[in-house]
Amino acid sequence: MPNRSGSPGSGAGGRGRSGGIKRTGPGGNCICPKCGYKERHIQGSPCKKKKCPECGAIMIREETV
Ligand SMILES: [Zn+2]
Repeated sequence: MPNRSGSPGSGAGGRGRSGGIKRTGPGGNCICPKCGYKERHIQGSPCKKKKCPECGAIMIREETV
């Protein structure tokens, strides 16, 4: 029975993989939480930076469930 002494990595192998990338595909909408105004989401310009033309509230991304 060949027994190799001195093998590296005995026991603790701390490798945490955090793969939590949420992909929001194209075709979403920005929606106003106040009045419900909907607008097509433009890629590159987040809804948070937009203001509702109707009431001036900050728009949010419509969540597709
Ligand atoms: Zn609004």
